Amino acid sequence: MDIHNGSPYWPTTFPLRKPFEVNERSECYDVVIVGGGMSGALTALALTDARLSVAILDKRQMATGSTMVNTGFIQYSNDIMLHELIDQIGERDAVRYYQMCLKAVKDLETISNRLPISSDFIVRPSICFASSDADVKKIKEEYETLRRHGFPCDYWTPDEMSENVSFTKPGAFVTYEDAEMNPYRLVNGILELIEEKGTHLFDFVEVTDSMTQEDCILIKTNAGTFNAKHIIYTTGYETTPVGKRIGAKINRSYAVVTKPIDQITQWYQRAFIWETARPYLYIRTTTDNRIIVGGLDEEIAHAPKSLELINEKAEKLLIRIQELFPHFQIELDYAYGATFGESKDNMPFIGQHPTKKNHYYLLGYGGNGTVYSMFGSQILRDLIIDGHHPDAHLVQLDRKYGVK
Ligand SMILES: Cc1cc2nc3c(=O)[nH]c(=O)nc-3n(C[C@H](O)[C@H](O)[C@H](O)COP(=O)(O)OP(=O)(O)OC[C@H]3O[C@@H](n4cnc5c(N)ncnc54)[C@H](O)[C@@H]3O)c2cc1C
Repeated sequence: MDIHNGSPYWPTTFPLRKPFEVNERSECYDVVIVGGGMSGALTALALTDARLSVAILDKRQMATGSTMVNTGFIQYSNDIMLHELIDQIGERDAVRYYQMCLKAVKDLETISNRLPISSDFIVRPSICFASSDADVKKIKEEYETLRRHGFPCDYWTPDEMSENVSFTKPGAFVTYEDAEMNPYRLVNGILELIEEKGTHLFDFVEVTDSMTQEDCILIKTNAGTFNAKHIIYTTGYETTPVGKRIGAKINRSYAVVTKPIDQITQWYQRAFIWETARPYLYIRTTTDNRIIVGGLDEEIAHAPKSLELINEKAEKLLIRIQELFPHFQIELDYAYGATFGESKDNMPFIGQHPTKKNHYYLLGYGGNGTVYSMFGSQILRDLIIDGHHPDAHLVQLDRKYGVK
């Protein structure tokens, strides 16, 4: 399955490395991770730090799945707003979930600071504007809920918006302590770090099945069998070889990256910008003064193959940037379409399979995938080492929309 097509930007910021070569193979790893993208790399780091023996197997070159087209914004706000999540799962759990997201942004910064490669991590605010007058009520309610529970945020009236950015909208809530980064460089940095610490990395090894035997899991691949005490599937939006995702919605999305702009002005702290409409438009800048804009989601699972279609969508996205920032001279540089997964209840799938012993999943579906990969890596580490994590029930697979 193609998970992205077109011309992604991040690979131009870091040279494609040689495939990893490992000549030895442990008799039985503590953990084998299937998938070396953001989720697999962060999980391997957490487990390697805890001194477990770990291997990652990836059917592609690691970091070239959706991680390579992730637009790299990390925020504690979610596709499901806090006040909506309170209605869905109750106040205590919803607030705890948002606190986990806020902490994950900080944890990503800490990891970023440890890496041999800069991931261009910069703390930024986010502006979520009301796409219509009818959505002002929602924006206000969200702001009040976030504030009541101690999250760093503000509310902007239309006048306050025009003081801070070159456009105005009926209202917006602004969240602080979010961040931007380059996900491709971050994951390549983690892979370099864990390889040095002794983690075995196998590019181009596809897992086709896994079976629990007496004290070991037998993992079948196109490169023979591997053995492990635990297996974690961090396979992103593609079907997992084992386990069925009940609550997954696989769609596709588009993104463009402009040529560098001379001077980024009338853009409050170069904040991430998004909106209440669904599907939503989202915009950020890069360290070399480009603008990335994404959106126009479609209910089709496969990434678009036609470059004509990708360019047509790119033109539409450029028009949306130009409407918000008419003073910029905007030119297209990169454009792509990609598979994008969401879950029906807007929460990721993280935890142990309900019936398959020592089989775990970390599928961070949704616009906040990176934050989910981050806290998911910690939940799985604790489930494997201690058998429990205090927040695991929030994202467990054994729920109405989970993994069976
Ligand atoms: C256009 C776009 C923009 C996005 N923007 C953001 C954003 O701004 N912020 C954010 O937080 N999230 C964003 N996301 C979501 C984010 O990209 C994903 O959550 C994240 O990259 C997923 O990482 P992953 O490791 O789970 O998946 P991937 O990076 O896809 O890694 C999964 C890996 O598993 C491997 N694999 C699959 N099956 C097998 C198998 N059977 N055997 C071996 N290997 C296998 C694949 O080859 C792949 O390398 C965006 C997603 C898209 C598509």
